Amino acid sequence: MDSSRRGTRPAGSWVESHGRSCAVSTARERCSFGPAPTALELEKLQSLTTTFRVSNVDPEQANAVKHERLVELMEETSRRGYNLPRLDGSIHRTPIPGSYVANMTRISDVNPLVPEDLTRAEMEGRRQAMEYARFLSDCVPGYGQATLDWLSTQVGVRESRRVIGEYTLTRQDVLEARKFEDGIALCGAPIEEHHAGSGTRWEYLPPGETVAIPFRSLVPQDAPNLLVAGRCLSASHDAHAAVRSMGQCMAMGQAAGTAVAQALDEGVDARDLDVTHLRSTLVADGAILE
Ligand SMILES: Cc1cc2nc3c(=O)[nH]c(=O)nc-3n(C[C@H](O)[C@H](O)[C@H](O)COP(=O)(O)OP(=O)(O)OC[C@H]3O[C@@H](n4cnc5c(N)ncnc54)[C@H](O)[C@@H]3O)c2cc1C
Repeated sequence: MDSSRRGTRPAGSWVESHGRSCAVSTARERCSFGPAPTALELEKLQSLTTTFRVSNVDPEQANAVKHERLVELMEETSRRGYNLPRLDGSIHRTPIPGSYVANMTRISDVNPLVPEDLTRAEMEGRRQAMEYARFLSDCVPGYGQATLDWLSTQVGVRESRRVIGEYTLTRQDVLEARKFEDGIALCGAPIEEHHAGSGTRWEYLPPGETVAIPFRSLVPQDAPNLLVAGRCLSASHDAHAAVRSMGQCMAMGQAAGTAVAQALDEGVDARDLDVTHLRSTLVADGAILE
């Protein structure tokens, strides 16, 4: 945005992008689930994860352990008294020598909108991180001298409240790699569902294909001058499981911010803006929409 368009406009439009979509939730009927979700909604909700880091890893030995072998070791040792709820988690080297970050823990049956549930999840995630670190240190080559030296500051929430927008992206849209005239971002990521239980469900788009995220999925129904961006967009459980990744959330943020600037210029509500113009601005700014 050039300096003449920065910081001098009346606050006429809002972009909400803090994951749990609070402004929109003041009207519960505009959200996909609220403080009292149905049993089915809760059952389908993605699990939470506390990530953690271990240091003092021997990289030569650790890097030789392929993911398939790590999974085998988790399966074997979970039968020998290690309490590992997720058996297909991953661990990743970092730029710091000997320092590895793990995405392994799994906390299920949590409603992330209920403080007591989140407190329980924080405690359970930390307990699990210590157990997975014990597993790594005892059972996986290269981790014998490793120590747990960091926990994520907060438990990671994959899925919670989403708006009901002018369009709700669906599972079929994703798997058929559908395009929309008001597409403001593209997503090639698979449906990645961290459900309760030991595995993870992956469903891929056709090879090389992408699904578009329509601008209407950022526009909440009946909420003037408000857009959302990121994981509170309007999408079904499965579609959300594909488009919630970081790159797509950043693209939605860019689109929503650009839309608000354009709406102010045009003197219209963001939902009524010229979407062809929005798309051409995004492309001029480097977005890939085709
Ligand atoms: C364990 C885990 C692993 C993941 N791994 C990957 C991965 O490998 N690759 C990938 O692409 N994606 C991954 N994801 C998904 C991805 O990280 C998130 O879906 C994405 O970051 C969501 O972006 P967001 O902008 O919607 O929300 P967030 O990234 O949660 O950003 C919301 C921001 O709003 C702030 N905020 C909250 N409340 C308020 C408030 N009231 N006022 C002001 N600010 C507020 C928060 O502090 C935060 O900074 C992972 C998610 C989890 C939980």
